[in-house]
Amino acid sequence: PAFLRRSGRQRLSRDVAEFEQRLSSALSQRRELDLYRQRLTLESPQGPSVRIDGQSYLNFCSNDYLGLAAHPQVVDSFRRAATQYGVGSGASHLVCGHSRPHHQLEEALAELTGRPRALLFSSGYAANTGTLTTLLQPGDAVFQDRLNHASLLDGGLHSGARFRRFAHNDVADLAGKMSAVDGPKLVVVDGVFSMDGDRAPLAELAALCRREDAWLMVDDAHGIGVLGENGAGSVAEAGLDCDDVPVLMATLGKALGTGGAFVAGSETLIEALIQQARNYIYTTAISPAVAAATLTSLEILRDEPWRREHLAALIQRFRQGAQQLDLSLMPSASAIQPLLVGDAGRAMAISQRLRDRGLLISAIRPPTVPAGTSRLRVTLSAAHSEEQVDSLLEELILCQAE
Ligand SMILES: *Cc1c(COP(=O)(O)O)cnc(C)c1O
Repeated sequence: PAFLRRSGRQRLSRDVAEFEQRLSSALSQRRELDLYRQRLTLESPQGPSVRIDGQSYLNFCSNDYLGLAAHPQVVDSFRRAATQYGVGSGASHLVCGHSRPHHQLEEALAELTGRPRALLFSSGYAANTGTLTTLLQPGDAVFQDRLNHASLLDGGLHSGARFRRFAHNDVADLAGKMSAVDGPKLVVVDGVFSMDGDRAPLAELAALCRREDAWLMVDDAHGIGVLGENGAGSVAEAGLDCDDVPVLMATLGKALGTGGAFVAGSETLIEALIQQARNYIYTTAISPAVAAATLTSLEILRDEPWRREHLAALIQRFRQGAQQLDLSLMPSASAIQPLLVGDAGRAMAISQRLRDRGLLISAIRPPTVPAGTSRLRVTLSAAHSEEQVDSLLEELILCQAE
């Protein structure tokens, strides 16, 4: 009857109003706390300088650590592969989306990391959540550094395993927490922490895991391409192999300049992920052209060690300069050089002043970092020049003093 339909519709509109109401009050709360986020719209490729709204900015916030995102050879490979294989992969890997460039890239990544196999995922987020939920089950325990990337925390939380966080880089705290728990154990860390730039004590963690009969998983999103021989990453640099770190994950969208991610490990691990990881099975494969472009990035890693050397020299230069100027450096030796500010509003204000003066440096605020530790996340790239790093230092001192 008409009368029932009408009341159904009224109830629906009340519920919709409730969703609207809830969302907009969450938005205003974010605004009040200086936690509201806005996107920039770039009109240029990634590079040491980028264009926004017709203005040029010195870019110190991308993760393109080696300057490969718009490298002519990488772009050219992408173009050639798009001509040969098309742009879209057309399907998931298990249906018919797995093409020759994907396969070659997996083989090259296995070789780079010195592991039997590697498996491509569409993103680092998917690789981490898919791997953790495949590996873990109720009755297991997963131990994560409290500064681990959100995708690792989410994967651990969704896995059904007991979930424990340990104090940042605190091996003694981890050891205590591990000894209190029985059953299969997995320890998970970032190789290089994404918002602090410091490194996990991988050798000590591997030794502890060996003693405790636990597995170690490392997310090397910020180490791959930058650290170790040929850019093999922080696990290789620490002299650890597949027995020490059975699960290695890294992304392609940072130093390698493209997009997507991979997990590398034993034959059994990779086959299990192919059969079971829902984030692998139920998603479209990355573009074959992106895979081909990444193969070229790997060649550049091998052929142009100067990129890693130049980046290391810029990191040194920045840290020395910042120390002399008494800027609030954090203990990082990587391309991620955050300057601690504390208050979210103040971090935003400094970032805005820098923007007004032609520099792009993002203010990182909670919940990405713990409350009270808002910071300017400066990232350096092999594409920067020494002069650009010097002007960064000059502008920082002007804008922090105001
Ligand atoms: C960027 C990042 C990811 C996510 O990778 P995407 O490919 O961007 O989804 C995962 N872990 C860490 C440590 C990262 O910095």
